[in-house]
Amino acid sequence: MNQKKNFIVAIDQGTTSSRAILFNTSGKSLFKSQLEFKQYFPKNGWVEHDPEEIWNTTKKVLSDVIKKSKNIKGEIKTIGITNQRETTILWDKYSGKPVYNAIVWQDRRTSDFCNKLKSYGKENLIRKKTGLLIDPYFSATKIKWIIDNVPLAKILLKKKRLLFGTIDTFLLWRLTKGDIHATDATNASRTMLYNIFKNTWDSKILNYFKIPSHILPEVKDSSDDYGVTHKSITGKSFPINGVVGDQQAATIGQCCFSRGDAKCTYGTGAFILMNIGNKKIFSKNRLLTTICYKINGKTTYALEGSIFIAGSGVQWLRDKVKLIKNASETENISKLLKENKGVYLVPAFTGLGAPYWNSKARGVLSGLTRDTGLKEIVRATLESVAYQTNDLFNAMKNDGVKPNYIKVDGGMAKNNWLMQFLSDVIYVRIDRAAVDEATALGAALMAGLKIGIYKSLDQISKKWKIGKKFTPKIAKAKRLELIKGWNKAVEKTLIP
Ligand code: ADP
Repeated sequence: MNQKKNFIVAIDQGTTSSRAILFNTSGKSLFKSQLEFKQYFPKNGWVEHDPEEIWNTTKKVLSDVIKKSKNIKGEIKTIGITNQRETTILWDKYSGKPVYNAIVWQDRRTSDFCNKLKSYGKENLIRKKTGLLIDPYFSATKIKWIIDNVPLAKILLKKKRLLFGTIDTFLLWRLTKGDIHATDATNASRTMLYNIFKNTWDSKILNYFKIPSHILPEVKDSSDDYGVTHKSITGKSFPINGVVGDQQAATIGQCCFSRGDAKCTYGTGAFILMNIGNKKIFSKNRLLTTICYKINGKTTYALEGSIFIAGSGVQWLRDKVKLIKNASETENISKLLKENKGVYLVPAFTGLGAPYWNSKARGVLSGLTRDTGLKEIVRATLESVAYQTNDLFNAMKNDGVKPNYIKVDGGMAKNNWLMQFLSDVIYVRIDRAAVDEATALGAALMAGLKIGIYKSLDQISKKWKIGKKFTPKIAKAKRLELIKGWNKAVEKTLIP
């Protein structure tokens, strides 16, 4: 019998590109289409995307993947969506047209407003309800900015025609031709408007920001029914059954399904998320508490910390100080040195994030001697990523949950030298996934779970494959000496 192969498609709408990936039901990626789009920087600290470019690139990569599935005689059973988180779009319910560009997660235009909120003592209230710290990063103040500054938004709001969505919601709306206005709990948890413990939009916060609830999407599980794509867009209707924010999707793609399981994605920045199960933990070290996933009505939480400068430190070496020509050279250069002789780079280029949270800190290169050259500086840049991860890891440990190992993915995780150094500094095992598409895979798994391709998270876990393991090889005394040196270098970033 010539039975058709079953496929799952993941749409991965990221910060610099839109991608669609065709997976078979064993989670193997068979084909990928990717298109970059433009970044707009209208003012210092402002970052925008054109929602139509987001839509057009997504539509094109999706149609490439659908075409491929036909060529290889398979059937797409379901679609999952993962997306850049927090990025905010408001649009007209009737015309479907956005009233303003998408304000991207990196955008800092609402900094002053956020500082005001903090000075009014609102941080604790926000934290208790949303698990987040007040910051321009999250959607709430971006929504408020658009409503306050774009006249059309005000007009449509009065007519009850204005809708809000993060990128997942906007894509769902467009893919279903306006049938579905929804998001999932992970994306909702990044808006700073969602009560992650009651699982509702928080009326008190909404009142405070003067954001009416009728503009907000319905919040569903990460693995749920999200309608079907419209025939006019995809040729045939396909069901959408998974929606999940990108970092949570990577956590799922890495099968971090038990309390204490942690993953770190090393791209431009790095994001570490640890599954903390179904109990709330408020970090004493200013980590975020967020929704990891919601399945069958049950919420699982995560602690999250981020490193601002990870791969971007390597980009800085390449593009600004011009010590290297490409990122992968850093591996061999670092390997050539037996040790780094007390040279440290603390890349606090835009301040220090968790657990320090000092926006005034600036970068430091310390411990230089006549002997210091290119190799030491390159290696110090890679080492800084391991030390920063160790700082986050310790913060998690101090909050009462200690990861036993860390699963890694992302472009920088390909660097074997760095992964070994990371294992030495943190003193835990590092598991690099066999698939390098953990984020897209997470969305595909959520979609497959809903329609019964997978029966349970347990069953999914059993399929997960380690690509390479790194175990600590360093002498304990040496490790402590290295960390002490790092801590001293960090102190120097705080000196004006
Ligand atoms: P993003 O998804 O944030 O665009 P990727 O996961 O594609 O990032 O990773 C790209 C980043 O990783 C770049 O900043 C690049 O400098 C860095 N990178 C890629 N390969 C290596 C490598 N072999 N060693 C060190 N850094 C690398």
